[in-house]
Amino acid sequence: MANVQLAALRKVFGNNAPAVDVASLDIEEGEFLTLLGPSGCGKSTLLRMIAGLETPTSGDIRFNGKRVNRLDPAERNVAMVFQNYALYPHMTVAQNMGYPLKKRGIPEAERKVRIAEIAALLKIDQLLERRPRELSGGQQQRVALGRAMIRDPAVYLFDEPLSNLDASLRAYMRNELIRLRSKVKGTMIFVTHDQVEAMTMSTRIAVMEAGRIQQLATPDEVYERPATTFVASFVGTPSMNIFPAIAGPATGETRPLTFDDVTITVPASAVPEGPVTVGARPEDVLLRQGSRSVPVTVVESLGNEQIVTIDTGPRELVARVTTGPKVAIGETLTFDLNAEKLHFFSPETGRRLNAA
Ligand code: ATP
Repeated sequence: MANVQLAALRKVFGNNAPAVDVASLDIEEGEFLTLLGPSGCGKSTLLRMIAGLETPTSGDIRFNGKRVNRLDPAERNVAMVFQNYALYPHMTVAQNMGYPLKKRGIPEAERKVRIAEIAALLKIDQLLERRPRELSGGQQQRVALGRAMIRDPAVYLFDEPLSNLDASLRAYMRNELIRLRSKVKGTMIFVTHDQVEAMTMSTRIAVMEAGRIQQLATPDEVYERPATTFVASFVGTPSMNIFPAIAGPATGETRPLTFDDVTITVPASAVPEGPVTVGARPEDVLLRQGSRSVPVTVVESLGNEQIVTIDTGPRELVARVTTGPKVAIGETLTFDLNAEKLHFFSPETGRRLNAA
């Protein structure tokens, strides 16, 4: 296992804005850290620099305190798992898994023991004599994982490894990876644009935008206390409602918050007086409460919940409804916001204002 330290790491391609510009990032030994962000935010470039497949423009990468910038991938003791499993089609599962050991000259008897161990852990011991074309996508992904694990690498690097799988297999593999995390030694760095993968598997998430890390925190903290409006709208399905408002002068413990023609009361300590950007998660838009009546414009039913869009006039708000009678399109309902759970951001910088 290794702890991975990134210090002022930058990668610039040509005259473009930096693809990666990381102030600093300490990934602890045994951690499952996810780099989460939209397409083009630099997460694969960052991972490839850690792997040794891309040379940093400046900055340092250290494993256990030792600078590895100049080491090639093989010398770094990292294993990469990609979305295209890259298995050798002419080799059996056992041969695919054993290949990294064979290349290192490990004797066959020793290879066999190790293959059996890893295959049992990944529950692919029945498949060892098959070729990749005789496997399902999920089985192929497990073989690719097995091939990565067989060398006992210090650091695992995953580049969107689940994105080629269908929805149920992804859920299954997520579950498997969570289980494996406790059984396998090794620091894991996982790249994805899928917030569900990031939220469910990670010890911490680094949310990236335009080459920079916007927030580095546990999944709960990212959801409950997003550092910026970007993080707030990127994490959570449906996205957080984000809109401008004015916070009025405090009266004792509370102050008014006005948006459009609605005024609600919020804790005075949550937000300073003046213009503010408000964030309200769909579960904190409360229907059949408050006094303002608005029409329902869209209803998405998911069985156990409904995602309901209401039209407040100047904007639409999205609410998550899990209790009460079913909501129908065209219905008129009152709404309120859960004042204790609102998020406040600076209109200038987009950074979070409230501590609570
Ligand atoms: P995706 O999820 O689509 O793979 P990403 O977040 O992994 O996106 P990167 O692939 O790291 O993003 O790319 C970051 C930026 O760097 C993009 O603007 C991309 O066009 C640019 N880039 C990546 N590789 C190169 C390259 N070899 N030459 C020039 N520009 C590159």
